[in-house]
Amino acid sequence: MKPLNADLHCHSTVSDGLLPPADLVRRAHANGVELLALTDHDELGGLAEARATADEVGLRFVDGVEISISWGDDQTVHIVGLAVDPADAALSVGLQQIRSGRDARAGRMAAELDKVGIHGAYEGALRHAGNPALVSRSHFARYIVEQGHAKDVKSVFDYWLAKGKPGYVEHAWATLEDALRWIVGAGGIAVIAHPGRYRLSRAERHELFGVFKDLGGRGIEVLSGSHKDDEVREFSRIAREFGFLASRASDFHGPGESWIDLGKMPDLPEGLTPVWTQL
Ligand code: AMP
Ligand code: MN
Ligand code: MN
Ligand code: MN
Repeated sequence: MKPLNADLHCHSTVSDGLLPPADLVRRAHANGVELLALTDHDELGGLAEARATADEVGLRFVDGVEISISWGDDQTVHIVGLAVDPADAALSVGLQQIRSGRDARAGRMAAELDKVGIHGAYEGALRHAGNPALVSRSHFARYIVEQGHAKDVKSVFDYWLAKGKPGYVEHAWATLEDALRWIVGAGGIAVIAHPGRYRLSRAERHELFGVFKDLGGRGIEVLSGSHKDDEVREFSRIAREFGFLASRASDFHGPGESWIDLGKMPDLPEGLTPVWTQL
């Protein structure tokens, strides 16, 4: 049987993507995606438009979200919620709390960038943000490229915005417990996003996955736009070890700015249970 072309992680202008929800859904459909989840950072605001467009073009759609949490010693980890109820009050209030911290963080980032010669970054990032409640490092990165300080968004992270660089500021996001409570409470399935991107030792990673599972977490992104082949093998093994459902995710943000386009990932390795068997 032909594997399903599922893409269960992407972003619109409601968070730090470059395309409005409707355009994103049309692009996914044109790319051959058969099951799509929109997972904006800490936001549900794009889901209604995305679902309406998906209905129009005949694409199966899943309501999703990507929640920012703090873990251990100032690590940020992302937890994707799939098939959450967008009308769930506790989820909405929780996400609203996370968003409300972003503006002050943006101010602190801009102050740090100012010291290294990048001026006007707060206003500049806001200008790039489709949603003023969701200013992200991606919007700062686009402003910094626009000002000619770097050739592309990737280099901005390497020089200025990644942890340990001048424009990086510590920030307290939600906790893993919060994220799991909100997602599970809203009827959703919690999935660890892009596990290959965290700077954690093997033991620390193991601890994260164990606690996540104990709190009701069920899935892991085995395929993510940012995963290399050896990471796909490693997280396939971990999915089997922990009994996690396996997800397939582009983490697409926009044309020219992402590792991979919507739905263009390889098929899941054999022997894993796809998360969409539960959707
Ligand atoms: P924030 O939630 O404001 O900390 O922004 C995080 C976002 O920045 C992620 O969701 C990615 O879209 C983007 N990002 C993080 N690291 C990188 C990187 N190394 N290269 C490109 N984009 C990145
Ligand atoms: Mn992002
Ligand atoms: Mn992420
Ligand atoms: Mn993402």
